[in-house]
Amino acid sequence: MEKSASTQPEITMPIKFLKGVGDQRARWLAKLGITTPLDLMEHFPRDYISRSLHPALIDCKPGDVVAFTAQISFVDFRTTRTGIKLLNLGVSDGKATVICTWFRYPPQYETLFKPARLIWLNGTLSEHDGQLQMLHPEFELLVSEEEEELDWWKSRSVLPVYPLSGKLTQKGMRNLVYRVFELFADQITERLPSELLERHNYLPRRVALQKMHFGLDADEREKVLKRFAYEELFFSQIMWARHKYYHNTSENGIIFENKELLKRQLWERLPFRLTNAQIRVIREIFADMCSQRQMSRMLQGDVGSGKTIVSLFAMLLAIDNGFQAALMAPTEILADQHYKNITKLLDGMDVRIALLKGGKSKAKDEQKSAIASGDAQLIIGTHALLQEDVEFEALGMVVIDEQHRFGVEQRAALARKDRHPDLLYVSATPIPRSLSMTVYGDLELSILDELPPNRKEIQTFVRSDQKIDTVYSDLRKELSKGRQVYIVCPLIEESDKMDLLDAQRLYEYVSQKVFPQLRCTLLHGKMPSKDKDAIMLEFKSGKIDILVSTTVIEVGVDVPNASAMVVMHAERFGLAQLHQLRGRVGRGAEQSFCFLISFDPVSKVGRERLNTMVRTNDGFVIAEKDLELRGPGEFFGKEQSGLPKFKFASIIRDQDILLQARNDAFEIIRKDPDLLDEANAFLARKFRDLYSQREELILY
Ligand code: ADP
Ligand code: MG
Repeated sequence: MEKSASTQPEITMPIKFLKGVGDQRARWLAKLGITTPLDLMEHFPRDYISRSLHPALIDCKPGDVVAFTAQISFVDFRTTRTGIKLLNLGVSDGKATVICTWFRYPPQYETLFKPARLIWLNGTLSEHDGQLQMLHPEFELLVSEEEEELDWWKSRSVLPVYPLSGKLTQKGMRNLVYRVFELFADQITERLPSELLERHNYLPRRVALQKMHFGLDADEREKVLKRFAYEELFFSQIMWARHKYYHNTSENGIIFENKELLKRQLWERLPFRLTNAQIRVIREIFADMCSQRQMSRMLQGDVGSGKTIVSLFAMLLAIDNGFQAALMAPTEILADQHYKNITKLLDGMDVRIALLKGGKSKAKDEQKSAIASGDAQLIIGTHALLQEDVEFEALGMVVIDEQHRFGVEQRAALARKDRHPDLLYVSATPIPRSLSMTVYGDLELSILDELPPNRKEIQTFVRSDQKIDTVYSDLRKELSKGRQVYIVCPLIEESDKMDLLDAQRLYEYVSQKVFPQLRCTLLHGKMPSKDKDAIMLEFKSGKIDILVSTTVIEVGVDVPNASAMVVMHAERFGLAQLHQLRGRVGRGAEQSFCFLISFDPVSKVGRERLNTMVRTNDGFVIAEKDLELRGPGEFFGKEQSGLPKFKFASIIRDQDILLQARNDAFEIIRKDPDLLDEANAFLARKFRDLYSQREELILY
């Protein structure tokens, strides 16, 4: 049975029991995420209009920005001679008429507008043949009998404009907001410690909420909005701070000893000198591994900054101490490549290396028993390493290469492995600071901010597909010097055979028509992994000149002799992906080139991405731009988000606030880790209900 509304109403009661709401409106409100009075209070206006914008039309002139309510007098659809659909709506306030015009309007408009209906309009007036006109105004249809506006609102000079759904109206919403504050304002509780409110000069929560709906001063509302962003970010950082605190104080990690045995041997046989950044980061990792806590560290560095070698030193430290170390790669190609490189680097050293991939085979069973017996010391594999039946004798350290390819669950599974191995997450490209603070707020961070010397900046060009022949002749120059090239096509799903060039057709064209005398091979993700491996091996050893491929070669692949990368339909790729693809070249001492082939039409954002690629080779700059263009939700792509949903905060806009919130949160947890202090009592309580679910998820 449903409860009746007669019980003492609370700010968190179901809003449908509020007088005048009812089932229907409650459903519309729910679509906006509003199920309680408190939700409604946190449903901020998307805009504010001033009554001075409600003039009589007769007094208006072109150029005026106006918002007004009027009646529809006629509706006229037509198609112009050039085939564009056109909608003209005549609206009148009784004294004057304005024509509202939409070009290429959505089809539902044809049934939406009816003469005599009331409509609220907002836009800029223009003039056409002496007639007032509005192009594509913002509008809202009002219910036919216009709702009564509360007297209180009638006296206001600034009115909030809310996001709506269903048949909710601005007036109805305003009245409801007003009533909810009348009934429940005194139940709004503070969430931030008063010390922090004072420090940042923020208004108390109750006043702040009221200002958002009823405040008259735009600057003041701006400041209030920051307060809510801060509050949200602060809570998420309190969560990370707590997590990190417990992690750092738990003594469940393996205490390695820096024995310098294998480390020295590897050091001596390295074919190059480590960069200063590599040396610094190896120190950071060693210090962490030699402490009593379980390492949880993210290694970030630009493409080609030499993250693998750093990881290898870390693994050798574990092996020096009698433990096993594992390196997990997201694809078989990468696992193979790591296996080959590492085997070569460690050649002559007494380290037993195993490679574990998916599938079933006798060889695999043998590898598994070598892993279980401790016979294998350095284990390289794909996510096959995560399978239940893979048992380690003494796993002390795990490197997760290109970590963003693995989900939260997979990472958690690793951290749980029996002896709490030290974990090093290796990120393919830099992650903007604000984003890593939000998503990986508990991880320590090591940054390789230096590329090995003797690298030349890759030269990047954008060429239209019309000019593809010039690209082929540039490639010919590289190929004639014995270099190799990649040509990448976007992956095409069976289902969307759009008008895109696909790798198969391109391969046929390039190998038969453009470079018939050269060795050209096609590589794509749907091939059996055995074939993929064989092709990569041949490419690496120089037996293939031109590799036409889908994005399977996107990350990690390391062939220093390749000096040109061509990306077809570059306008369709995200920045991070383009940067990764470009990172396949420029890995040797030769000058390398990247040709981004664009096919019209290119969107504005697409153009901006391409320009960014031409402008810079710096992965840190590109990552920031990528975040700006795509927004935080899309930054990591579909594989993994782990991104908390913020209602008020924006990771892009509110970076300063995030930093502040993080410092404050970490300071509070440092002083009062269990939030036992009286001053933090509400924080402890709120924190429990707000984050209990998430806390469970991340406290592996
Ligand atoms: P990424 O950081 O993109 O994973 P890798 O670890 O694959 O980069 O290294 C890229 C290439 O640079 C490899 O061929 C590696 O052997 C080489 N390399 C790594 N460190 C150095 C260095 N200090 N000096 C010269 N070459 C290096
Ligand atoms: Mg790598």
